[in-house]
Amino acid sequence: MIRPFPELENIHAIPIELPGFEDLKTANIYAVGRGPFTLIDTGPKYPGLLEQLNYELRQAGYRLGDVERIILTHGHIDHFGMTYSIREAAGRDVACYIHPEDAWKISSANTSQDLWDHEAYEVMALAGMPLAEIEGIRERFSFFKDLCDPINNPCLMEDGDEFFGNAYHLTVIHTPGHTPGSVSLYESRSRVLFSGDHVIKHITPNPLIEMRRTDLRDPDYQSLRAFKKSLDKLQSFDIQYVFPGHGEYIEDVADVIRTYSVHHRQRMELVWQALNNKSRPLFHLIGDVFENVPEGDAFLAVSEIYVHLEMLINEGRAELADPGPPALYRALP
Ligand SMILES: [Zn+2]
Repeated sequence: MIRPFPELENIHAIPIELPGFEDLKTANIYAVGRGPFTLIDTGPKYPGLLEQLNYELRQAGYRLGDVERIILTHGHIDHFGMTYSIREAAGRDVACYIHPEDAWKISSANTSQDLWDHEAYEVMALAGMPLAEIEGIRERFSFFKDLCDPINNPCLMEDGDEFFGNAYHLTVIHTPGHTPGSVSLYESRSRVLFSGDHVIKHITPNPLIEMRRTDLRDPDYQSLRAFKKSLDKLQSFDIQYVFPGHGEYIEDVADVIRTYSVHHRQRMELVWQALNNKSRPLFHLIGDVFENVPEGDAFLAVSEIYVHLEMLINEGRAELADPGPPALYRALP
């Protein structure tokens, strides 16, 4: 269990426990409003979760049928999975907003290919991952697909867009890094930041290696670089509480951001040291960078090594030694 969220007028936190994803603690859905009554994120489509959400909303004096608008912080299943079911339960066309850079992630074009882009094969092969391992990860992704229904043609929102309601005022802050289309939402009356997976208290969010970069507005997009820039962007907001996508609420956001910065610096040094002895493909660095990686998490491990390697290359401390496959990298002094 996590400690209870502060009671605020017009904002209800609905943390939902996620069996099988204990490291995330909870998936948090937030109900904001009246007029228009708005949900921020919708959780994954787990059996029984819609009923649980309905129950929690009733405790707060609402019904699923009251939902008028859904705002998604980003396009991952644990944040948009139940959107379709909620729209159906509401019995009408509920407007669903997402940033354009993540719209593809929630579309049937992505879910119909098991959330696994063909480019991921190439990227993992370049990292030196054995084919059997890649297939295993693909299967895991195909299980994730069952935890969501696709949303096609959502409404799009951009940085600086505002959502008004009776007694709330939300501003969209584009905070790419975890995904290219991640947003945080700032509610100015309560000074609450809904951070999605951009800021989480108990884990350092993963800036994930991004496929389909050529489709992004910035084809040179790098997740960790973008993530750090997005953290800086929060400094101009007067934040009383952060209400994250997972786990407990945060009071001292600056303190959490400081721990991220230390963590990233340490990870980057480990990657540099791992490459320092000899040039190696990324898959072979996992053991040097992480203490233990659960089976099936090799994709996340390679992804994390890759985003740190990009930063090392930016700083002139590493370079591509052989384009491969597998690609070999080496450290520079
Ligand atoms: Zn998440």
